[in-house]
Amino acid sequence: MRILVTGGAGFLGSHLCERLLNEGHDLLCLDNFFTGSKNNIIHLLDSHHFELIRHDIVEPILLEVDRIYNLACPASPIHYQYNPVKTVKTSVMGMINMLGMAKRVKARILQASTSEIYGDPQMHPQREDYWGNVNPIGIRSCYDEGKRVAETLMMDYHRQNKVDIRIVRIFNTYGPRMAENDGRVVSNFMLQALKNEDITVFGEGKQTRSFCYVSDLVDGIIRMMENNQGFTGPVNLGNPVENTILEFAEKIIAITGSKSKIVFKPLPQDDPKQRRPDISVAQEKLGWQAKIDLNNGLKNTAEYFAKQLGRG
Ligand code: NAD
Ligand code: UDP
Repeated sequence: MRILVTGGAGFLGSHLCERLLNEGHDLLCLDNFFTGSKNNIIHLLDSHHFELIRHDIVEPILLEVDRIYNLACPASPIHYQYNPVKTVKTSVMGMINMLGMAKRVKARILQASTSEIYGDPQMHPQREDYWGNVNPIGIRSCYDEGKRVAETLMMDYHRQNKVDIRIVRIFNTYGPRMAENDGRVVSNFMLQALKNEDITVFGEGKQTRSFCYVSDLVDGIIRMMENNQGFTGPVNLGNPVENTILEFAEKIIAITGSKSKIVFKPLPQDDPKQRRPDISVAQEKLGWQAKIDLNNGLKNTAEYFAKQLGRG
């Protein structure tokens, strides 16, 4: 198949492109390089089945494809808050452009939605039928509400124009090729631990997250795209093993053998208190669940960051 991956030079997108290329497909990797990097896909550029397009999905584009994976959107709070208006445009205008393309060429389209659409959840763990608790006017809203509108657009194009859609709600994912400077907890703690610098835990570190390794996530995304039962989702994809951020900091110190000390910094506004996916729908409909355990995943990730620092 001819497959378009928007945001293909980013963390998740580059792993997805690699996997789809290995499966024998023709790949169009589209990216505006806001948070993505050529380094993430440099090893794919020699393939005759891989094409790189520098483009911003906020602008229309005409391409002929069979599948569209729409991953283009900055994902870390410091990146999506850098230009919040642009973040909303990417989720809304970008989504409309990609859905227009899907409608025109009758491609199947998958949207990378997020656990953030649940906001600071009052239901735990989060199931797909929970409508969420999102602040519409806070500093995370450009991302959370943008992604919520993107889901609405997907469903409306499906109902109104019969576009073949798939929605995945991705929970915190980690692994090699996370941007070093994106301020997310995994990259921050890894780099701090490897440099024996203080580990910055926000708040008291009692907030929880559930971390999924990137290869598991990519597997879930492809299974969702290729389910032929017409299951549109939304479906949660994530690893339900839940840790407090403080436990997580201690784990990373142990895995890296670091001498770092933990320090406490103010909790950012609207930081969700707890987050864990209920993945029974993914298990039932896709036969999917995460396989890589946190210790192994973190070891692989630590090796990657050590290499980035010129070690190992
Ligand atoms: P990332 O920042 O590494 O990748 C996003 C990519 O999109 C980058 O390559 C960036 O340059 C590109 N991009 C941004 N705006 C664009 C635009 N307007 N036009 C074209 N390209 C654009 O982030 P990621 O972690 O790989 O996330 C990929 C997708 O998955 C995002 O949509 C994100 O919201 C979603 N997601 C990720 C996670 C996670 O834990 N990593 C969790 C939930 C949802
Ligand atoms: N966090 C932290 N220290 C850091 C970076 C993040 O304690 O240096 C916390 C953050 O407050 C949040 C959790 O780790 O509670 C996950 O943050 P991240 O930005 O990775 O993802 P998100 O909040 O979007 O789930």
